[in-house]
Amino acid sequence: MNDPIVIVGAGLGGVRLAESVRGAGFEGGVILLGAEDHPPYDHPPLSKEVVTGQSERVDLKPAEFYAEKNIDLRTGSRVVAVDPDSHTVSVERDGERRDVAYGTLVLATGLAARRFPGVADEVTGVHVIRTIEDALAVRAAAGKASRAAVIGAGFIGCEVAASLRKLEVPVTLIEPAPTPLAAAVGETIGELITRLHREADVDVRTGVGVDRIVADDGAVTSVELADGSSVDADLVVVGIGGYPELDYLEGSGIEIAPRESGGGIACNSSGRTDIPDVYALGDCANWSDADGDRHRVEHWTHTVDQAALVAAEIVGHEITHQSVPYFWSDQYGLKIQMLGSPNPADDVHVVDDDGRKFLAYYSRDGILTGVVGAGRVGKLMKARQHLLTPTPISALLDG
Ligand SMILES: Cc1cc2nc3c(=O)[nH]c(=O)nc-3n(C[C@H](O)[C@H](O)[C@H](O)COP(=O)(O)OP(=O)(O)OC[C@H]3O[C@@H](n4cnc5c(N)ncnc54)[C@H](O)[C@@H]3O)c2cc1C
Repeated sequence: MNDPIVIVGAGLGGVRLAESVRGAGFEGGVILLGAEDHPPYDHPPLSKEVVTGQSERVDLKPAEFYAEKNIDLRTGSRVVAVDPDSHTVSVERDGERRDVAYGTLVLATGLAARRFPGVADEVTGVHVIRTIEDALAVRAAAGKASRAAVIGAGFIGCEVAASLRKLEVPVTLIEPAPTPLAAAVGETIGELITRLHREADVDVRTGVGVDRIVADDGAVTSVELADGSSVDADLVVVGIGGYPELDYLEGSGIEIAPRESGGGIACNSSGRTDIPDVYALGDCANWSDADGDRHRVEHWTHTVDQAALVAAEIVGHEITHQSVPYFWSDQYGLKIQMLGSPNPADDVHVVDDDGRKFLAYYSRDGILTGVVGAGRVGKLMKARQHLLTPTPISALLDG
């Protein structure tokens, strides 16, 4: 393999890839290009400890890590084009453009936050949470807010609602689907999580979308809902998801997956794109599985697992570790966790519910497909072993 490995995107996936190739003994050049001016930082705390003010330092690694591992970290360096023919990427830094040559290229550029349409940039009080600056801005706005509206009750929207309640800001959480989080965890579990919000006095409005964000004199004042009602708010957080921002791949010939299968950079089951020496991983990547089905997943552990797989592929090692899909969310002092890949339509078996904490199994055709819990860390992790091989759900329900 020719040097160097050039990684585009100095977030979780990029840093883990760099660390893993070094861990596997790769001694050639590793260049880590990050568009932001910050050293690489972690995203999960942004909607949690950063909004509540419990933490502002979310660096992925100590400052000395990059020099110690001989990783050439270049912050403030945005890749604006990729040319596989010449094996170069074009990098914009301080207004100047330079080409950087690669032997192997890894794309780990994450997502950009989707904005609510029709809101002028100069309107104050309307926020998203994707970067550290976004989270600090929400934190600052929360200190002055008298009433907040959170648009979108996905995991990030739910976490922001919980963080704002911790700061004692009154919150309305607005979700067009009938049940928050139903697309991710199914209706039964979505209801159990919604219960936590209602108990914390969040005004949860479901089954109704937002028509318009209203501003007066350059500052947000309310949001108008599709049912004709209006919610007063001097702080609005828009949590309607993100999208892979891939303009920099235009003209590169690197295949983009169709929108219906999640979009993102199309890869095989070990992260290779259709162009030699180019890989993609993390939130921006859409890998195919053994059955040829495509998946683009936006979870922390998934990104870490993919970075390990791509690193092994690049350095020619084999990986024997069997991973079980996992994600977590923190809301109202509870750790909500899911193991496995259940479909929202799978059968749900709630085996423990004390009115706040709960544990449930999912099954399809009698076989366990996943486990979800809130405040049940030990019990949930015990179930992990049962997801490594097909396990009849009856064995868990009877046991
Ligand atoms: C607020 C928030 C809370 C989250 N909470 C959880 C959670 O509780 N549990 C969980 O499982 N997951 C959570 N996630 C998801 C998790 O953080 C992501 O899955 C993970 O960060 C993905 O890693 P990544 O490397 O693909 O992207 P990122 O970590 O987003 O890194 C991508 C990097 O690429 C850079 N970049 C983009 N374009 C370019 C370019 N052209 N040139 C150079 N650099 C570029 C970006 O600036 C960014 O730093 C959360 C995400 C967010 C935003």
